[in-house]
Amino acid sequence: MTLILGVSGGIGSGKSTVSSYIMDKTKCKCIDADKMSHDMCKAGSKQLMEIVKHFGSEVLTSDGNLNRKYLGDIVFNDPSKLEVLEHFTTDKIVEEIHNEVKQYKEMEDCKLVLLDAPLLFEKDLYKLCDINLLVTCDLDRKIERLMARDGFGREQIISRINNQMSDEEKSKFADVILDNSKDLDYLYNQIDQFLERNNIEF
Ligand code: ATP
Repeated sequence: MTLILGVSGGIGSGKSTVSSYIMDKTKCKCIDADKMSHDMCKAGSKQLMEIVKHFGSEVLTSDGNLNRKYLGDIVFNDPSKLEVLEHFTTDKIVEEIHNEVKQYKEMEDCKLVLLDAPLLFEKDLYKLCDINLLVTCDLDRKIERLMARDGFGREQIISRINNQMSDEEKSKFADVILDNSKDLDYLYNQIDQFLERNNIEF
């Protein structure tokens, strides 16, 4: 029996931080939707060429990679463009996630799979999971961390947050909420308690 654990949350909430910690503590397999998206849109890929065809070569960096920040500014200010981008990328990622989950479930020695997906709830991927974790974080903390990590401005962060499903909505589908508004020990402690409560130690 394979336990599928979904991890999601808004931009900069701490999804990767939670996933890394669980990966360190257990011997889980990980399906990382962000990594899939990066791999799918790497320089020279078919997906990237489709994106360039639609959005123009301005979406490329000088070394031919996708300028995610630039593209983000375009799509997070225009829902119709976000829809087009999703057609090129998200739909394929969702399909691949379904396939990977199925494959892992068929592997006899695979006890735990972590599905780290920003659109876990929006794309109904939570239905593939046995337990769904929602990582939340105070707005000011989130802004502070994203400014430090990505060099985003406040307005850029707000427009991305406003284009996402709210935490209130996501919490209706989540089984467990992890509050990442304080320091890492505070977060790790909640994860430890969760793992212990559910006897997850593999
Ligand atoms: P994205 O939505 O961009 O994929 P994410 O939800 O995966 O982001 P992380 O990358 O885990 O979020 O965290 C965002 C930033 O905040 C990172 O730089 C991370 O190191 C930092 N961070 C996360 N949690 C904490 C914390 N409790 N205390 C301090 N910094 C933190």
